[in-house]
Amino acid sequence: MTRIALFPGSFDPLTMGHLDTIERGAKLFDELIIGVFVNTNKKSYFTSEEKLAIVEESVKHLSNVRVVGQENELTVNVAEKLGATFLLRGIRSVKDYEYEKEIALMNHHLDQGLESVFLLADPKYSHISSSILKEVWTFNGDIKEYLPEAVYRALEEKRENSEK
Ligand code: ADP
Repeated sequence: MTRIALFPGSFDPLTMGHLDTIERGAKLFDELIIGVFVNTNKKSYFTSEEKLAIVEESVKHLSNVRVVGQENELTVNVAEKLGATFLLRGIRSVKDYEYEKEIALMNHHLDQGLESVFLLADPKYSHISSSILKEVWTFNGDIKEYLPEAVYRALEEKRENSEK
């Protein structure tokens, strides 16, 4: 049996915390598919195409990881189409746990064949989120160590273009 997992998220943008979860998850499953989705509760900074390109570039060293983009579709339906029977998510805190529990129980209600698997965030990255990094970036704070290289480059390009 091939164990395929889907790691859905908005990845706006991908952080070292996400990448750490991806690298550890890739060891647990035969195939790990990153789903670059739209979170309807959050306003996106990067376009879906930009996010997809950045994630692809950042996971190219992992041979059993691939990336898909999807808009306006339930995660459980995407998982079914991809043949994924596991959902991977990360947990940084009790707050994440409460949020992830709601999502996992709802996904279980929608599809009992799909098992949610959680990895605890590495303490090095458990205080970072895409939102806090974007906020610090806006005010020129140093966040380089928390961002994969492709993300840092994309942020710099965005800044240069907005200054033109
Ligand atoms: P969403 O908008 O669906 O919550 P995110 O891109 O914010 O998507 O996060 C995707 C997943 O990655 C979530 O399970 C989240 O808890 C997890 N995650 C976010 N930041 C980190 C981090 N620093 N370390 C580990 N996991 C993280």
